[in-house]
Amino acid sequence: MNMFRNERGFTLIELMVVILIIGILVAIAVPVFNAARESAYKSTCQANLRTIDGAVETYKASTGNDYPTAATIQATLEPAYMKKWPECPSAGAYLIGAGGGAGATVAPVVSCPGNAGANPNGHSYP
Ligand SMILES: [Zn+2]
Repeated sequence: MNMFRNERGFTLIELMVVILIIGILVAIAVPVFNAARESAYKSTCQANLRTIDGAVETYKASTGNDYPTAATIQATLEPAYMKKWPECPSAGAYLIGAGGGAGATVAPVVSCPGNAGANPNGHSYP
């Protein structure tokens, strides 16, 4: 009896079934992976905005209640108050709104470019 010694290999149907099963597994895994990646990007973006906020408040506390100006916020905070100015992993450089400067009561608004318009991947903080 030579049941496990079939020298003829797989039939075309057997190979097609295996390839079909692999295809179904990939079709399930890819959307799950993409969703996990987008979730990680969003978390990173929110952490970046929190880091910028922390650096802005530290600057304010150490300079006698002045917020950094919008035009020079990055050069002001980096590297004294934050090691490196962050970037959103999915949308790129952050947008800096008007505001700040000596005597200002509010800091310039730093936001994710993904929030502009109808981008469904926009991130916000908090
Ligand atoms: Zn973002």
